[in-house]
Amino acid sequence: MILEKFKFNGKNLEDGPSWGMTDISMGTMRFRWNETNENRNAFLKKLCGSDKFPAAVELIHSKTVYDIESADETIGLQGDGIITRNKNIVPVVTVADCMPIYVFDTKCGTFGTLHSGWKGTGIVGKAVGIIIEEYGSRPEDICVAIGPHIGDCCYNVTEERAHYFIDNFCHDCVSKISEDNYSLSLTKANLAVLIKCGIPEDNIKIMDECTCCHKENGEFKFGSFRRQTLNLPSDMPLEERLTKFTVQAAFVKW
Ligand SMILES: [Zn+2]
Repeated sequence: MILEKFKFNGKNLEDGPSWGMTDISMGTMRFRWNETNENRNAFLKKLCGSDKFPAAVELIHSKTVYDIESADETIGLQGDGIITRNKNIVPVVTVADCMPIYVFDTKCGTFGTLHSGWKGTGIVGKAVGIIIEEYGSRPEDICVAIGPHIGDCCYNVTEERAHYFIDNFCHDCVSKISEDNYSLSLTKANLAVLIKCGIPEDNIKIMDECTCCHKENGEFKFGSFRRQTLNLPSDMPLEERLTKFTVQAAFVKW
């Protein structure tokens, strides 16, 4: 499992919350409100202990962020981000190639976890906006961490999607490989969002181990939608495909 501290003014922020993500060895953390995942429940119980409570949402690739005060506020809800000032809450999202983004405001204490796939890119701007507007924080008070996700080494997109990213984020987040085949860097697109928000680079930590191809001791370290569904029969229904890869849990915890 990955467990890290935020970076603030270029240094590890030891007296802040930690952010983390499970890996492939811990099994799937898939989450739906109408399903029971014993593996996930056991992991979260151990992570949270007796005094903390996980808060989750069912992901929909949106830019919807909930700012909550108690863990049960998100029950039954769909969205892609949870922020809170309550240290007893552990905001959890799931990822498998999509980018987990973690935020912590050193001034007002708001922290949270976001799920940012290609469609949701920009959700971090939404979360930062809420923190600044609701709590009067300044961009330089806010730390952001980007967790492991699919890197530009493995993320190929069409020309149409490449142009969407050039138009909405930055030029250098895509590069042309061949006709209608571009590589996309979600890291660069999100850095463009963060710079626009005014977050100092010294407050941004990036872990860019690629979930699709990164190996440790010869074994893939992370579950990956792209890698693990590549060789499935093309006529397999989507709902079944969605059960065939290892989903990671991403969280921030005091
Ligand atoms: Zn890769």
